[in-house]
Amino acid sequence: MESKTLPSSAAEHAELPVYNKLHASTLAIHGGHQANEHGALVTPLHQSATFAFDNAEQGGARFAGDQPGYIYTRLGNPTTAELERKMALLEGAEDAAATASGMAAVSSALLTHLQAGDHIVASNAIYGCSFALITTQLNRLGIRSTLVDFNNMPAVTAAIEPTTKVIFCETPVNPHLDVFDIRAIVAIAKQYDLVSIVDNTFMTPLLQQPLALGVDMVIHSATKYLNGHGDVIAGIVCGNREHMTRLKYEILKDFGGVISPHDAWLILRGMKTLDVRLQRHCDNAEQLAQYLQANQAIAKVFYPALSSHQGHRFIGRQMKRAGGVLAFELIGDLQHAIDFVNRLTLLTIAVSLGDAETLIQHPASMTHSPYTPQARAEAGISDNLLRISVGLEDINDIIADIEQALV
Ligand SMILES: *Cc1c(COP(=O)(O)O)cnc(C)c1O
Repeated sequence: MESKTLPSSAAEHAELPVYNKLHASTLAIHGGHQANEHGALVTPLHQSATFAFDNAEQGGARFAGDQPGYIYTRLGNPTTAELERKMALLEGAEDAAATASGMAAVSSALLTHLQAGDHIVASNAIYGCSFALITTQLNRLGIRSTLVDFNNMPAVTAAIEPTTKVIFCETPVNPHLDVFDIRAIVAIAKQYDLVSIVDNTFMTPLLQQPLALGVDMVIHSATKYLNGHGDVIAGIVCGNREHMTRLKYEILKDFGGVISPHDAWLILRGMKTLDVRLQRHCDNAEQLAQYLQANQAIAKVFYPALSSHQGHRFIGRQMKRAGGVLAFELIGDLQHAIDFVNRLTLLTIAVSLGDAETLIQHPASMTHSPYTPQARAEAGISDNLLRISVGLEDINDIIADIEQALV
């Protein structure tokens, strides 16, 4: 599936009729691909910092924006552009921007809309570095924040101030996989004229499309499922043409958090299998959740596909499936949880998620160790809580490893 024309932007590309009838799993493979000089099946890697002009007039015309074409990779790169077109198509966005990390995506998106004197309302359950960015770094720049429980919509509304510009959350979110009501958040954003931003990392556009529900901007850590192979740190932002033009040609241009073309190329490779990988991640996680729920050594399992979970009612109406991350509480104390983790032989002790390998981490001693014990208790992070990113291995091997470690 190749477009023979060369549209200059993801927006024009998304309008190509060739994409109208394709399903998301097909778009993840073919979306955004352009014909290239030699007919290479795989997108060429343009590992070049700069691009030569035919003559001075052409260089001048590119700088003036009078002529399409590349100038310098911080301003755009053909390999990166293919990833951006693919992601824009999948999220149903007018445009997308690839960034150096998920945090570069979060910070670029927020800085596109916020300046000194502004205020942001965000979920109090949020990725740890997004929490630090909002409460420490943005605060240092004169941008204030209020963090509230997004399960409680009246509290979200009550947190809005006259200077509030942005409402931000991720769903589902660590550590309990809570799911927030995107439609309700969009309704509040529209009522108070706020820009709504959702971190869609845990779902990918194949399981959840926040823009279709009215969200203004979507963020991803492409480090996770989009790349899927644990060898890249990168991010993506998707949104409308006006927002993305500011993000790309002001924020990313001047703050500089652009992706390496090589990393974009690896993500393009990873995304060809995104749909099949996600199906396996979800199948494995569903089976593991059921096994854990039935096990006498487990106190509680947190996974939105379980009917007992807070997020269950959103499956099918906001998110297609529950994804590949789950958490559970062992019966026992902190040392018991640590001993269990140390007995595992197949599961890898590591943070991150969305890789082929099943990864397990212990929030109390790892991701949430900077919290005081009291703050951890308030956030519901018990000493025996464990988080698993369920990988692509045979589910019987994953369960067997957990079973032998539970004794
Ligand atoms: C990992 C992650 C991030 C940060 O992404 P990096 O690629 O590590 O910078 C942001 N949000 C969520 C939900 C994440 O899981």
